[in-house]
Amino acid sequence: MFIAIGLVPQSELVKDLLELNDFKYINTNECKTEVEGIFVAGDCRVKSVRQLTTAVNDGTIAAQLAINYLNK
Ligand SMILES: Cc1cc2nc3c(=O)[nH]c(=O)nc-3n(C[C@H](O)[C@H](O)[C@H](O)COP(=O)(O)OP(=O)(O)OC[C@H]3O[C@@H](n4cnc5c(N)ncnc54)[C@H](O)[C@@H]3O)c2cc1C
Repeated sequence: MFIAIGLVPQSELVKDLLELNDFKYINTNECKTEVEGIFVAGDCRVKSVRQLTTAVNDGTIAAQLAINYLNK
């Protein structure tokens, strides 16, 4: 038997706003969503590796994208 703990994304909050995949992960292009000005970082987005290092990496990218967006 295989038991997976902690793999259900808590994406309820954005389900009517952003595109989710069949497993309720948020679809993104890197950390950009299809909605201008909304960026997503970490395990809740569609990605191939979910680890602390990739979550931190996403945080950096999403923050930089948000800064660029606000400076526009
Ligand atoms: C069992 C398990 C073991 C793991 N072991 C490792 C490991 O050994 N090494 C490793 O690198 N990675 C490990 N990981 C993966 C790692 O924990 C994640 O990749 C990382 O925590 C993702 O960070 P995050 O900030 O995206 O999400 P999270 O750490 O899940 O943080 C999301 C936060 O958002 C909060 N939240 C959710 N919904 C709302 C809301 N509506 N309003 C406000 N807050 C909300 C949650 O309470 C949570 O605090 C493990 C994961 C699991 C489940």
